Amino acid sequence: MSKKIKQIAIYGKGGIGKSTTTSNLSAALSDMGYKVMQFGCDPKADSTNTLRDGTYIPTVLDLLREKGSVDAHEAVFRGYNGIYCVEAGGPAPGVGCAGRGITTAVSLLKQQKLFEELELDYVIYDVLGDVVCGGFAVPIREGIAEHVFTVSSSDFMAIYAANNLFKGIQKYSNSGGALLGGVIANSITQPIQRKIIDNFVERTGTKVMEYIPRSLTVTKSELAGKTTIEADPNSEQAGIYRSLAKNIDEHTQSVTPTPLNLEELKAWAAEWSDQIMAVEVGEVNSKGAAI
Ligand code: ADP
Ligand code: MG
Repeated sequence: MSKKIKQIAIYGKGGIGKSTTTSNLSAALSDMGYKVMQFGCDPKADSTNTLRDGTYIPTVLDLLREKGSVDAHEAVFRGYNGIYCVEAGGPAPGVGCAGRGITTAVSLLKQQKLFEELELDYVIYDVLGDVVCGGFAVPIREGIAEHVFTVSSSDFMAIYAANNLFKGIQKYSNSGGALLGGVIANSITQPIQRKIIDNFVERTGTKVMEYIPRSLTVTKSELAGKTTIEADPNSEQAGIYRSLAKNIDEHTQSVTPTPLNLEELKAWAAEWSDQIMAVEVGEVNSKGAAI
């Protein structure tokens, strides 16, 4: 009997830390003994680099363009601790629909029953920023992923992208779409940044999976072409990624988020702008309590 594969998708604004977080999550889950596939869905095709000493792999779309038809095994490469690495790839820049690449790549592997053959425990889709076109919503819309997580900092544009993602999830939630597991708060270094994220998840009926600080350990590991889990397993940062992996592993119930509409989001941002200003002029300390 085939076991249940846990399929999750990671979304978030470009450059926010999706691939970094996803690769460390894959590495940590793999260290826990799970069989993991990381499926890069960004046309940049660099999702799995730090699992493979900083190297690029040929993408599913590249292989299809070169050869016409592809045996799914040819698109799968092994990375750290045997993690299966796949990159969907994208069309030549400026032509075609990048989202379609995801559909094509996922169906290729599914048709050939590769996930079952490899007896995977986890498939982690590293998707991308806004759900800007139907293609990128595929992992949500078609129930490919069961749980969606979003990486966000406390910056407004990152929260704006997360809120848009919530709108996408809400839209497909009645037709078997994926639901939201939670927010992975990245680059959180100051107490007020944590408070901003906490307030956003409270307003949208979601939760924080882990708070990940901005850390030079991550920079150093990336420059060495590795995840922090591999390059610096005893660091505090690696411990935080392991804690994230444990929280995601234990997570079972995802929810339909309640996104803010544009007016609400603007009002929410204005409130926080006032709070930050108050911190700056010293009316309140950074924990938000009046001095
Ligand atoms: P995305 O996949 O969302 O486009 P990346 O994972 O490629 O973003 O991250 C963008 C940059 O930010 C990378 O150089 C990465 O090393 C850095 N980064 C991400 N998270 C952290 C962190 N917690 N601490 C330090 N640097 C980080
Ligand atoms: Mg990326």
